[in-house]
Amino acid sequence: MTTAIVVGGGIGGIVSALLLKRHYDNVLLVERAAVPGGLLRTSHTRDGLSFDFGTHFIATTGLDDLDELLFDFVNAEDWYEFDYLKAGHYHGGLLNGNSTFIDARSLPRQTYLEGLEQMLLATPSDETPVNLEQQLDDTYGVIFRTQLFTPVLQKLFGVEPQQLAPDAHLLFGLQRLLILSADASRELKNLPRYDQCIAFHQLDEGVNQASVFYPRHGGIGRWIDGLTEKLSAAGVEMLTGHFVQGVSHQNGQIDSITLDDGRHLDCDQLVWTVPPFLLAKAADLDVPMHAPQLRHTRLFHFIFDRPFTTDLHYLYVHDPAMSAFRVTLYSNVAGQDHDPEHGYHCTVEVLSDGKEDASLLSERIHNELIAMGLVSEDAVCRYINNEALAAGFPVLSQEFVAAGKQQADCLTRQLNNLHLLGKSSGSAFFMNDVLREVYDALNVA
Ligand SMILES: Cc1cc2nc3c(=O)[nH]c(=O)nc-3n(C[C@H](O)[C@H](O)[C@H](O)COP(=O)(O)OP(=O)(O)OC[C@H]3O[C@@H](n4cnc5c(N)ncnc54)[C@H](O)[C@@H]3O)c2cc1C
Repeated sequence: MTTAIVVGGGIGGIVSALLLKRHYDNVLLVERAAVPGGLLRTSHTRDGLSFDFGTHFIATTGLDDLDELLFDFVNAEDWYEFDYLKAGHYHGGLLNGNSTFIDARSLPRQTYLEGLEQMLLATPSDETPVNLEQQLDDTYGVIFRTQLFTPVLQKLFGVEPQQLAPDAHLLFGLQRLLILSADASRELKNLPRYDQCIAFHQLDEGVNQASVFYPRHGGIGRWIDGLTEKLSAAGVEMLTGHFVQGVSHQNGQIDSITLDDGRHLDCDQLVWTVPPFLLAKAADLDVPMHAPQLRHTRLFHFIFDRPFTTDLHYLYVHDPAMSAFRVTLYSNVAGQDHDPEHGYHCTVEVLSDGKEDASLLSERIHNELIAMGLVSEDAVCRYINNEALAAGFPVLSQEFVAAGKQQADCLTRQLNNLHLLGKSSGSAFFMNDVLREVYDALNVA
């Protein structure tokens, strides 16, 4: 009998367990919380409205076998399906309903023109940049870096681009800028060098083939419910409310784990989807110890008595004058199907140093929703709630990224039957990147 153990019951761990069950007799999933799902959980009000806990929308990965595993129970009766979401952004005091990317044309004319010249003449080097500041300067020029990127990165990460690792801006979807006209941008994007940094002006341009899903009722946690049913149908044993206290290994092979309640479980394969430093501790290995640096992330949930004044499904708030990072407007996702009796609800994600009082912040966010033109001034707010995430966005500082890589290398070098996966492993953050990585690692014959 062979046994695989998966630690962490987020989407990374759940899909790992489903894939491992194809090859192992016994698969155990250990989740510290009372319920699985991680950042794809949902809470519900007494009136039946649902607020998601982190990630809202799910999309096909393009890998047929994986998509079958993830979405075979996602049907038209219970789920909305979109080719793309109506997404926008707020920056420079303006709401743009056609793109999530910052509009460089919002800068004063002369600054914009000088910045544009720098960006179009920039020649990114083939060498890996030393930090994000250098990468942004090389790609967009100093003017757009200082005027557009630095303020929003300071707001989101709380540190300067110089302290951040290359590509850190991708975490917040900041890879492109809106410049010039739609036609000129389309033309320039034929060149790979410009395609990477110039945005289309409309949402339906450059859309990939993925289908995007959201449940008609019950929030994104419904997906986790469906996958959890699959886990039990496949015979995966789920141990919720537990964590791994000890990992025993000999000659580079993990042979058992010890749970917090003292139980020993034999283990032929360990998949670890929670922070790797916890494994280093549990296995008593000499590994550089670095706890993850996380940005304080808080979610504010609102219900208003009338429809939003935009039809967007979600938007990024790049404007540094606003505290909000992203607003998801659930009632707009339901569109005509939404029952007005329930009111109109949204979730606002806020990244901060965590020092501000949550009730003051919720008042501020309420005012921001009005100031951004998403909620009318006379709308009555029927409900406000907020919750902090234990595992929010990472601060991708150079030290953190380098230390994470060093820690992961060190662990996988010392333990042969180990996979470090999930977003905590540091090699992927977005859900579909995590899922593809899990699939590549575990879908082996
Ligand atoms: C606020 C926020 C918004 C996001 N929005 C998006 C988005 O729009 N699109 C997107 O693609 N991605 C988004 N992401 C990233 C996405 O949520 C992750 O890709 C996804 O959750 C990764 O799943 P995971 O299983 O690796 O981690 P998680 O979802 O974090 O799950 C980890 C699980 O491990 C459990 N756990 C922790 N410690 C232990 C322990 N010691 N023992 C046992 N269990 C433990 C936790 O309780 C949790 O259930 C967002 C992330 C955040 C923080």
